[in-house]
Amino acid sequence: MDIKTEIQRLKKEKNAVILAHYYQPMEIQELADIVGDSLELARKSKNTDAGILVFCGVNFMGESAALLCPDKRVLLPAPEAGCYMADTITPEDVRRLKTANPDSTVVCYINSTAAVKAECDVCCTSSNALKVAKSVDTDSIIFVPDKNLGAYVASMVPEKKFIFHEGGCCKIHDKLSAESVLKEKALHPNADILVHPECNGKVCALADFLGSTAQIITYCENSDKNEFIICTELGVTERMRALMPDKRFYIPDTKQLYCDMMKKISVEMLYNCLKNETGEVVIEEGLREAALKPIERMLGI
Ligand code: SF4
Repeated sequence: MDIKTEIQRLKKEKNAVILAHYYQPMEIQELADIVGDSLELARKSKNTDAGILVFCGVNFMGESAALLCPDKRVLLPAPEAGCYMADTITPEDVRRLKTANPDSTVVCYINSTAAVKAECDVCCTSSNALKVAKSVDTDSIIFVPDKNLGAYVASMVPEKKFIFHEGGCCKIHDKLSAESVLKEKALHPNADILVHPECNGKVCALADFLGSTAQIITYCENSDKNEFIICTELGVTERMRALMPDKRFYIPDTKQLYCDMMKKISVEMLYNCLKNETGEVVIEEGLREAALKPIERMLGI
């Protein structure tokens, strides 16, 4: 039996689609019907006719799909794959921040659990965070969990006061050093430096372009340049190498920019999940309603 052919057959038989984040291993991205970043996957999961969504990503992404699609079953091939950033904050932390800052709007980056989202007013992604922050009608914003994305947004929206959650960040992006990026730039002086805003402020300051995963890919597709230093998880770089074989992409620190949580899914795990319909995301209805509100508010902006 060829496992990849069998996955295609099972997909048809069960009316299932496979969604994969750009950080997934290339062989998983190649099997997916839809590949995207968090926002694209959240939007597209809502628009498909499939009865089953097999979600190749970390568990908060599966939760977001389940929140948006109560009429579909969402299956995770690796339900144990969490997100270091989402794990930096609890619902109690958000409640504490709200009590201390009662006149603030709570803006929650999509990289968070459903329980944390349920405590917040509006979600954002790295593509729309600026737009969301500008749209809120309070002078003060509690921005959780990512302090790096929050600091970038705060620098672009100086008219508002920002409150952050201590320690909230993605340890993969946050620990990329400016020195590694500069070393790569010295090797490739004509390359543009493209940075995801989850990186720390020193790396963001080096960027020729700062944007979400999807925005980084579009930038490279539309650029006249041929060389790029990519400061985000290395799955994105691998995808761009496949999409744009004539251009050159450099990873400033291969060890640091590898998210082990995103790399837990193998082709065999995907096959078993689809065949046995395991790893279903189940969210209690009260929590679903509360966590859906900030996502819908975001999608309406
Ligand atoms: S790269 Fe960071 S934010 Fe993205 S899934 Fe991995 S730990 Fe979470």
